[in-house]
Amino acid sequence: MIPYGKQTIDQDDIQAVVDVLQSDSLTTGPKIAEFEQTVADYVGAKYAVAISNGTSALHAACFAAGIGPGDEVITTPLTFAASANCVLYCGGTPVFADVDPKTYNIDPEDIQRKITDRTKAIIAVHLAGQPCDMDAIHSIAREHGLIVIEDGAHALGSVYKGKKVGSMSDMTTFSFHPVKPITTGEGGMIVTDNEDFYKKMILFRSHGITRDDSMMTRNDGPWFYQQFDLGYNYRITDIQCALGCSQMKKLDRFLARRKEIVAHYNEAFADCDNIITPYQLSDTESGWHLYIVQVKNCDRRQVFEKMREKGIGVNVHYIPVYMHPYYQEHGYENVHCANAEEIYSHIISLPLYPGLTSEQQDYVIDTLKSLCEE
Ligand SMILES: *Cc1c(COP(=O)(O)O)cnc(C)c1O
Repeated sequence: MIPYGKQTIDQDDIQAVVDVLQSDSLTTGPKIAEFEQTVADYVGAKYAVAISNGTSALHAACFAAGIGPGDEVITTPLTFAASANCVLYCGGTPVFADVDPKTYNIDPEDIQRKITDRTKAIIAVHLAGQPCDMDAIHSIAREHGLIVIEDGAHALGSVYKGKKVGSMSDMTTFSFHPVKPITTGEGGMIVTDNEDFYKKMILFRSHGITRDDSMMTRNDGPWFYQQFDLGYNYRITDIQCALGCSQMKKLDRFLARRKEIVAHYNEAFADCDNIITPYQLSDTESGWHLYIVQVKNCDRRQVFEKMREKGIGVNVHYIPVYMHPYYQEHGYENVHCANAEEIYSHIISLPLYPGLTSEQQDYVIDTLKSLCEE
């Protein structure tokens, strides 16, 4: 099966992991800070917190933002459930704003409509790596005093009007799951320029416990530590961060290869009226985490099943979050985002990852074209 996404691991990635395994620190060692610094420098942020995965990164960001019971957080329904679940973890209420029918990203006009006096934050998700309309989102946030969190799980290396994702908002989260732009197996990170948020997230990652003398209310001796918040064990290992550092050296190469594959798909489907290719914004550079097409005038389910039968691991990104039974049973039964639902009914994600060969890609193209022209 040709998967829709897949990691690229070379001998030097393996060696970096082996080196850590042969060192003294498997966790809370020097590779954590090295990986944090590497990503912070790359995206242009002051601080970074490496964490166990992209979901805990979102949880930490919501915690640092002070989201709690009674607070509403506006996000997109066309995302992985984690982008909304993180609000629920903190006792807050996710509110779904519909997406733009062209870019599939959250529509600032609908954000505006969903704002109430309880709205505390916006979580913008850069679907497939295509940056959201951040100027419009920031201007709404400024007007209403809202915190902006970017879920950049798809968007490490994406650029919005000359600015890298991770350099623009209060906090931005990343995921390093194997299908994401770079991988650490499981892993995540939050970047921020805000020292207060940074300090909160560092504590949150490890039980809310600190040994920092300047923070403690007393100090009984060299063994002493104090717990200030109800944190978790969301730590990431040095093994993972060593892999992350090694992967970061290749990120730009990975992004260039993804772009090449996307250009070939776009060209191949240009003459197919039944295949709607991703919309390209002129002032942004997508990291192309996903290649999402809409199939029109044919049965999406049938096309999907035939692709799978032919060994092509297509996927659908995403089922609108509020449609899941958990959300339906927790107050979202009357929520509808018309654009998100319309897009959901037609989309298929095609294989896209740096190691996809030209032969594999041509097979994907020929197979989809023949199914959509039937
Ligand atoms: C992958 C993903 C996450 C969660 O990241 P994990 O590392 O799998 O926990 C969150 N949001 C989006 C949009 C994702 O694609």
